[in-house]
Amino acid sequence: MPLSPEHQAEIDELRARPQSTLRSTAAGMEGHLYTAYPVLDHGFVRVIDYMGDDAAICQAARVSYGRGTKSVSNDEGLIRYLMRHWHSTPFEMCEIKLHVKLPVFVARQWIRHRTANVNEYSARYSILDREFYIPAPEHVAAQSTVNNQGRGELLEGGEAARVLEILKADSARAYDNYEAMISQDGQQGLARELARMNLPANIYTQWYWKVDLHNLFHFLRLRADAHAQYEIRVYAEEICKLVADWVPFAYKAFEDYRMGGATLSATALDCIRRMVKGEEVTQETSGMSKGEWREFMQVVG
Ligand SMILES: Cc1cc2nc3c(=O)[nH]c(=O)nc-3n(C[C@H](O)[C@H](O)[C@H](O)COP(=O)(O)OP(=O)(O)OC[C@H]3O[C@@H](n4cnc5c(N)ncnc54)[C@H](O)[C@@H]3O)c2cc1C
Repeated sequence: MPLSPEHQAEIDELRARPQSTLRSTAAGMEGHLYTAYPVLDHGFVRVIDYMGDDAAICQAARVSYGRGTKSVSNDEGLIRYLMRHWHSTPFEMCEIKLHVKLPVFVARQWIRHRTANVNEYSARYSILDREFYIPAPEHVAAQSTVNNQGRGELLEGGEAARVLEILKADSARAYDNYEAMISQDGQQGLARELARMNLPANIYTQWYWKVDLHNLFHFLRLRADAHAQYEIRVYAEEICKLVADWVPFAYKAFEDYRMGGATLSATALDCIRRMVKGEEVTQETSGMSKGEWREFMQVVG
């Protein structure tokens, strides 16, 4: 279960008592505040707090441009201009604080994004719950044969079932031993900070994660991408939905220029110019390596 009944009651109470404020709020985000959205089998994402909206991005940008914003007078146009020209600091004026429950192996990928503030559940202080990520059968796949860093075809026949049984049995045994080691029933009981070392990386942890919108977009660009591991991608996709409701103009610009856009090298641009002029460009005449050409062809279709 992603949330304990006490936790859910706390969320319900917070949502039942709206408070008035002089600060600007984003109606789309107010609708999500505190609510936990399930991710994977026991995880969730929920917004604890946020600051700013599309208007805050424009307000900050207009400070730097002063009167020179006439050419991009409307908010959406200005936000698209900022995104297109990599003018990032106005996006840093918006912040979001999330509460995330996620498997430890996903947390290890997530924590590589250094430009955020994190406070994690302490397994020195508290006892971890018996909650392990067990993939759904449709995600139990073999090592990819084309990408060393990824999965390929689904495991066939009885192999998927065997793998799932191993994952479940090992998780259960590790947790049984964890409980046995920390137990103070007829023994001293091993310190929690030591007992945890025997737990597998599919156990769930929780943290508060606070980040500004610029760095959140960077995170989402990498982790909502099709190349990201499924187990972190589903969290990024859930966060994308929240951000789309929070700062709709900024999110639309992000989708257009970053998620849907592509960065091209000078060599690739030269190829496009030659193609537009009618030249038939091949990998051999492109000046690109086979790998670069393959990726280029994926971009230009
Ligand atoms: C598909 C994929 C595969 C990956 N595979 C691996 C892997 O095999 N092994 C591995 O170790 N990692 C791997 N990573 C992690 C990756 O290398 C980055 O560590 C991670 O994506 C965080 O990116 P970041 O450093 O840009 O983000 P952040 O840490 O949020 O930083 C954002 C930006 O701030 C700047 N910045 C932040 N801190 C510093 C600093 N100290 N010095 C200079 N500039 C800084 C940089 O411009 C950086 O791009 C992978 C990531 C992805 C998405």
